[in-house]
Amino acid sequence: MNVESFNLDHRTVVAPYIRLADLKELPHGDVISKFDVRFAQPNVAHLEMDAVHSLEHLFAEHSRNHSGRVLDFSPMGCQTGFYLMLEGRWEEQDVHDLVAATLTDILGATEVPAANEVQCGWGAHHTLAGAQDVARTFLAARDGWSTVTA
Ligand SMILES: [Zn+2]
Repeated sequence: MNVESFNLDHRTVVAPYIRLADLKELPHGDVISKFDVRFAQPNVAHLEMDAVHSLEHLFAEHSRNHSGRVLDFSPMGCQTGFYLMLEGRWEEQDVHDLVAATLTDILGATEVPAANEVQCGWGAHHTLAGAQDVARTFLAARDGWSTVTA
């Protein structure tokens, strides 16, 4: 199929993990790296949508304090993870460091950025505590982030 992740057998993966899903070379030679940042075991568990939404806001804002090469952090519709798009090629350890630093910031956050009607399409649909629970669980499993399949 056209979409890389549609060719991934989701029964074989072991969440949580971080996987390079795509490396796209643009016409002028620039490269975009797309990572599958999987928080919940596919077809077994999922994240609550308000936690997904708040984590999206928190990660989008805080990750950019650690790198100017963050392009996007978007939730998967299945609510089991996110796509992290970064400018250029990345060493796995550098991606892990970026994610870990960002999640550590999130654990210390006192509010969800832009959780209001001016800056968000559903400003009331947020949970700081829910996002922090998800971040804490993912961070604690850092030793397993490189292991995509059993
Ligand atoms: Zn929003």
